Amino acid sequence: VRLCYAHLGGKPFVALAHGENWINLNLAARDLPARFSWLASCPEPTLVDWLRNAPDFAASLTELVRYLTETGGLRLYLVRGELRLLPPVPNPSKIIALGRNYAAHAAEHGHGVPEEPIFFAKAPSSIIGPGEDVLYPDFVHRLDPEIELAVVIGRRTKAVSEDKAMACVAGYTVLNDVTARDMQKKAQEQKYPWFASKSLDTFCPMGPHLVLVDEIPDPHDLELTLRVNGQVRQHSRTSMMVFKIPHLIAFISKHMTLEPGDIIATGTPEGTAPVQRGDILECSITRLGTLTNRVM
Ligand code: MG
Repeated sequence: VRLCYAHLGGKPFVALAHGENWINLNLAARDLPARFSWLASCPEPTLVDWLRNAPDFAASLTELVRYLTETGGLRLYLVRGELRLLPPVPNPSKIIALGRNYAAHAAEHGHGVPEEPIFFAKAPSSIIGPGEDVLYPDFVHRLDPEIELAVVIGRRTKAVSEDKAMACVAGYTVLNDVTARDMQKKAQEQKYPWFASKSLDTFCPMGPHLVLVDEIPDPHDLELTLRVNGQVRQHSRTSMMVFKIPHLIAFISKHMTLEPGDIIATGTPEGTAPVQRGDILECSITRLGTLTNRVM
């Protein structure tokens, strides 16, 4: 199951992939008002609203598609025209990102591998979608992209054990943890938080789609590739993560409740380097697609 958040020039909507086509999920779900009664009080839901309100999200989508296929209503909701993609998860309660979760990346910045996960926040206001520009402010002197696998949480999760952690995951998307590296280094030297360096406006490109867990049998067997102007900069596999996803979810949820739609950016591999205004950033992960943004 694959979803996106998009518009055709008007109001944005959640769309569900159906073969080569997309279905306007927000409209289609009104055909089953008893099943999706929450839509009456949330008529223009984002994917976060869907995850909050439909606990068995994948199952309810399957049920809807079966119903629409049987009744012949499916074609009514096919999207006609070119979708303009928005960030798939535009309004999470929080974005948690991992530091030094690939040994070779930790080493290139002069660090060892941590004994337990190092996590920090990115402001949800930094989220942008595919094709939007990353804005390079005048006061920043080194800007690095960081390709990361993003885990999207599907249900409220508190202090979950490692063996039950994967049941909390709704799906995955590609995330670029854009970093004002000079600001981050200065903050680290002064022993200040490096929140600002990770949370400037436009510093969290995400997308192109939300791919649910049914399409990703092993999230630790994916290839990550960052290209800058077509040249490969970062290339690794998610199997190289120091702390794997179940451990990350168990560790983070011991400290704070994870809400539906929350995002865990699982860290970046080696090859981080600065980019300039005008550069094109392409972040690709197996099965998840390519997230493209220009630096301006
Ligand atoms: Mg990062």
